Amino acid sequence: MSEFQVRNNELSELEVQTLIAAAIAARDKAYAPYSEFKVGAALLCSDGRVFSGCNVENAAYGAGICAERGAAMQAVAEGAQEFSAIAVAGWKDGRAEQDRGLAYPCGICRQFLNEFSAGHMKVYVARSITDYEKNDLSTLLLHGFGPKNLEV
Ligand SMILES: [Zn+2]
Repeated sequence: MSEFQVRNNELSELEVQTLIAAAIAARDKAYAPYSEFKVGAALLCSDGRVFSGCNVENAAYGAGICAERGAAMQAVAEGAQEFSAIAVAGWKDGRAEQDRGLAYPCGICRQFLNEFSAGHMKVYVARSITDYEKNDLSTLLLHGFGPKNLEV
């Protein structure tokens, strides 16, 4: 039984905080020895399941992957192809909450998430469980190219 009740992609405050907590927990597992910028993401799917991901860097820098796409890959591999919301938490270790920036998804991740966005997918970018910004993915990726573009 999921702890999330997905209704038109709107979450209660407690659900948002739960999702952000999962992102922060995933952040702790990040492999970021080069940038030391650790990112965690928690992806809520329309069936109520949550998949997490963290950034994984590589000595060949370009081979690394973002937390958001890591979470999306897990979701798709488990059969979830409709995303309702994602929480992202990214900062360097030891950075005080008030000194943390907001780690918005990069352009590639916005495009990647758009492929599986269920309607108005929400993006929560957090400094902490209670300090976050909420956006629609469609705002972050205005006029995004998606599966429907290939139908015409
Ligand atoms: Zn990214």
